Amino acid sequence: LTENNARPIWHPMAHPAEMQASPPRVIMKGDGVTVTDIDGKSVLDAVGGLWNVNLGYSSDPVKEAIARQLAELPYYSGFRGTSTGPSIELAYELAEFFAPEGMVRSFFTSGGSDSVESALRLARQYWKIKGEADRTKFLALKKGYHGTHFGGASVNGNANFRRNYEPLLPGCFHIPAPWTYRNPFDETDPAKLARLCIRALEDEIAFQGGDTIAAFIMEPVLGAGGVIVPHETFMPMLREVLDRHGILLIADEVVTGFGRTGAWSGSRLWGVKPDMMTIAKAITSGYFPLGATLISQKVADVFEADRTSFGAIGHGYTYSGHPVGCAAGLAALAETKRLNLAGNAAARGEELAAVLADLKARFDVVGDVRSKGLMAALELVSDRASKKPVDKKVMAAVADGAYEAGIMIRVSGNNIILSPPLVITSADVATIADGLAAGLARA
Ligand code: PMP
Repeated sequence: LTENNARPIWHPMAHPAEMQASPPRVIMKGDGVTVTDIDGKSVLDAVGGLWNVNLGYSSDPVKEAIARQLAELPYYSGFRGTSTGPSIELAYELAEFFAPEGMVRSFFTSGGSDSVESALRLARQYWKIKGEADRTKFLALKKGYHGTHFGGASVNGNANFRRNYEPLLPGCFHIPAPWTYRNPFDETDPAKLARLCIRALEDEIAFQGGDTIAAFIMEPVLGAGGVIVPHETFMPMLREVLDRHGILLIADEVVTGFGRTGAWSGSRLWGVKPDMMTIAKAITSGYFPLGATLISQKVADVFEADRTSFGAIGHGYTYSGHPVGCAAGLAALAETKRLNLAGNAAARGEELAAVLADLKARFDVVGDVRSKGLMAALELVSDRASKKPVDKKVMAAVADGAYEAGIMIRVSGNNIILSPPLVITSADVATIADGLAAGLARA
């Protein structure tokens, strides 16, 4: 096994020629918040796997729960006529954990993209059952990210993720995200910008016809699009507009669920109750693939009163409610609560925000910094006035410099994305600060 024989992997985000020129870092071990590569170099994983390893790599309770479940029952279907103990128990736990968001049922999936796809399908079916079959459209935010399936790709707000697959699902429309650094309204006051974006939403609803729209899907804090943090008024105003038109709200909490923003969910952060929530990633802290689409009583009532529909989604996944995944989920949730990871994300998040502000003051290449809890982005520009993104080579140099200095960061376009495990300490934040400074010095 070497870096150079990774060729048979069709790597999701890189051209094969790029992979040849710049082979992947092969990660061999994880311990606490640290990962070790094939050359024996250990770095602090400031990406937290992929926004998911909230507990770090050494959670014995999760590992033991997985081992116990593997010994007892490695798999049984939760599809029709059968279910398993861990899946039932986890559904109870999630209903309790997300009771403040109003969630009452879990439809288990194999990951985030499945959860989004299931939510979109449930929204379509919800309106068919209610006799409003014309409500088929979906609204979403520009810069939003909702996974890789065709439905999710259709509501993705980044054209780069759509154009290679068109024609996609018809009837998907995107409104501007409330992002002060780059926005079509040239408005830098976040509260005013939030109002302008809501006005754009109202215009779009008027143009489409409110009774043709099934649902609006958004990440409460946008992740992959570059950690865009809406003003606190945005989501409550959005909820109010959607209610006026009877449009369902799907909160895509694949990244923001389970404490990353400093609150237990992004919806709770903004004080909003969605009609459905999509979760995955930290549901098992990365120890096993699992996701869920959660629904509110309002949605459950419509399905449960109906005798003509499937009474559920009408399809399922072979690995829906996988007992090992659900056992991992139960242990991860118990640890997440015991360690109060939302509290730690909020406290360490404040320290991280101070670090980012300091880096922005020290390095001209940093055009903007954005963060909420322990999700953060630094946007790199070659010139602060024109906001011209730096080129790929600069981003690669920053990532390499940071890695040499001891931290793994993620590069997405001209953004450095940070989403460290939620168990990090203040000393770890200092390590991230030093690693970033070393990387930026390269730029
Ligand atoms: N929704 C959001 C908000 C995401 O960030 C992601 C993945 N980064 C997904 C959906 C898709 O999840 P998965 O990769 O587990 O399919």
